[in-house]
Amino acid sequence: MERTFIAIKPDGVQRGLISEIVSRFERKGYKLVAIKLVVPSKDFAQKHYHDLKERPFFNGLCDFLSSGPVLAMVWEGEGVIKYGRKLIGATDPQKSEPGTIRGDLAVVVGRNIIHGSDGPETAKDEIALWFKPSELV
Ligand code: ATP
Ligand code: MG
Repeated sequence: MERTFIAIKPDGVQRGLISEIVSRFERKGYKLVAIKLVVPSKDFAQKHYHDLKERPFFNGLCDFLSSGPVLAMVWEGEGVIKYGRKLIGATDPQKSEPGTIRGDLAVVVGRNIIHGSDGPETAKDEIALWFKPSELV
């Protein structure tokens, strides 16, 4: 069954949005198969966002991801990679539709509270980066 990697970033955890976000995935009908709270190192954050290393915001983004606890999760279900991104909304919360997580709960792109894998290959790579196989139930 299809799986995706979802993370609540330090701003989402700090703002107390864990239950709100987890419940949206649960209510949709997806299955939680792994979850843990971690403070990633900067080196780890750079690995996670390696595709963006040429972008001007890369350093700030990695500093931010490693600035506090992140709730790392794996969700499973039909179409979960694409539909999970739909639940999350557009990267820039100014452009995210109301009803999406970023549309309802975030304001600026640098503090957009949640990450979701953008395709099957990245989902596979990100799940392997964040979780040991034994942590997936
Ligand atoms: P994520 O990978 O976190 O799920 P995304 O796939 O919607 O987000 P990406 O293009 O992968 O968007 O960018 C990764 C993250 O980098 C964004 O979520 C955002 O926090 C940050 N980011 C993207 N564009 C900008 C920007 N112009 N300025 C500052 N931060 C940005
Ligand atoms: Mg992305």
